[in-house]
Amino acid sequence: MNEPGWYQDAIVYEVHVRSFCDSNADGIGDFRGLTSRLDYLQELGISCLWLLPFLPSPLKADGYDTSDFCEVHADYGTLDDFDEFLRQAHRRDIRVIVELVLNHTSDEHPWFREARVSPYAACRDYYVWSDSDQKYREARIIFPETERSIWAWDPTSKAYYLHRFASQEPDLNYDHPDVRQELVRILSFWLDRGVDGLRLDAVPFLFEREGTSCEDLPETHGLMRDVRRYVDQRYPGRALLAEANQRPADMRAYFGAGDEFHMVSYLGLLTRLFTAFERQDREPIIHMLRTGPAVPRGCQWAISLHDELVLEALALPAQGDALVPDLPLLLDQGMSRRLAPLLNNGRREIELMNVILMTLPGTPVIYYGDELGMGDNTYLGRRRALRTPMQWSSDRNAGFSAADAERLYCPLVSNPVYGYQSVNVEAQHRVPSSLLNWMRQLLATRKRYRALSRGGIRLLHPANQAVLPFIREYEGERMLVVCNLAPRAQYLELDLREYDGCTPVEAFGGTSFPRIGTLPYLLTLGPYGYYWFLIAP
Ligand code: MG
Ligand code: CA
Repeated sequence: MNEPGWYQDAIVYEVHVRSFCDSNADGIGDFRGLTSRLDYLQELGISCLWLLPFLPSPLKADGYDTSDFCEVHADYGTLDDFDEFLRQAHRRDIRVIVELVLNHTSDEHPWFREARVSPYAACRDYYVWSDSDQKYREARIIFPETERSIWAWDPTSKAYYLHRFASQEPDLNYDHPDVRQELVRILSFWLDRGVDGLRLDAVPFLFEREGTSCEDLPETHGLMRDVRRYVDQRYPGRALLAEANQRPADMRAYFGAGDEFHMVSYLGLLTRLFTAFERQDREPIIHMLRTGPAVPRGCQWAISLHDELVLEALALPAQGDALVPDLPLLLDQGMSRRLAPLLNNGRREIELMNVILMTLPGTPVIYYGDELGMGDNTYLGRRRALRTPMQWSSDRNAGFSAADAERLYCPLVSNPVYGYQSVNVEAQHRVPSSLLNWMRQLLATRKRYRALSRGGIRLLHPANQAVLPFIREYEGERMLVVCNLAPRAQYLELDLREYDGCTPVEAFGGTSFPRIGTLPYLLTLGPYGYYWFLIAP
């Protein structure tokens, strides 16, 4: 199961247990529900699940505020339910990555409760205390819309504690050897249960040092190298994935010299693709590929269309207002929407974005429900807007839960365009041309070509800027990918002389195209059209 480099060929599906399927009619998705839907995921063709945080939490920060690192939130079931889920996933050759937030805990974690009672408590120094709120003044406030300082006053113990995120999320003190020991214990707990990988959140913020931004510090990288060494020795074949919401070069640093994380989530792909679509120009994508820092051998970016659009980067007239007509922007730097509403539900645009996701270098991550073109609910506010229940059918509660509708953890999307009555798994199963069936075909085709998962990329530069052509190549297998970023038909002439005598075979249908000669190779593409060709000798 754990062959080396499996994460490089993986197609990942990002899912929240809460949102996927409710087995016990309490209105909240759970592990038994998720387990009951594994056949669906296997049939879709994904090979790895990434579970958003599901540990015990008061849920003041959507589960990123952990109150016990070695348990399952009672809403989602028990550790036994988790174990059974993992067994059933592995039976279907689906690997599982678990997300852990280790920079901080919830203020309801027993460590913090004990720590704030007395300065002499054993785990007092698990957290970062200060008599003054003036330390680390160069550390930015990550959520300035809700927090005014990185320090919060604790009236019980009459001291300030550090919190890089919300004040209910006190930072752990990684200078304390016991905290580092706890980190290893927590990782081992989940790896011993058999998970295939761990996604570590908010990694840049682990350590603090006076006179710095308190981000990406050498101490943090040092600790991650220790973690990697430990995991490689004790748990060979498991993968570590980092979330580091930084500039590309700083994200890249979490690969180290191939001795930190196996994968790092690349943030910014969607913004580049969106800009390219807006301008009908491949340049923003080319720029990303050229300046995007190369990764060490055996490492890979995790790429996704579920991302925050960075508004300054978009040359949109009203800075994206048109995309969110009713609401102020959702996040600090940009806004977060599901793919389908971002693209005004345009089927061709949705297909092309997914084609690009599946062909650029990186491990593709599909956000749950995007395979159906699900919508979002911006009235629910940040994060939750995109976590509405999975839409299984047009039955009661979209087949998500047998609870009364009032009891659901979150209302269903039910508007005329994206509502579960029309956008659901059952309906799309029955229509051969549905997005779901198209996605299945896309994933199946992607998996046939290792050039698309492990290959290097070579950009081609035809005169027509609205078209993005490139070649992926791995161990003699060559794929030519051509994408039309414009809503109008295009033609292009490609210089393919070095493949003189080869035949391009279209990967989805198997049609052989005219043989390549020494003259420019002419191709035509419909609006947002695309081709994947295997270049056969
Ligand atoms: Mg439930
Ligand atoms: Ca920290």
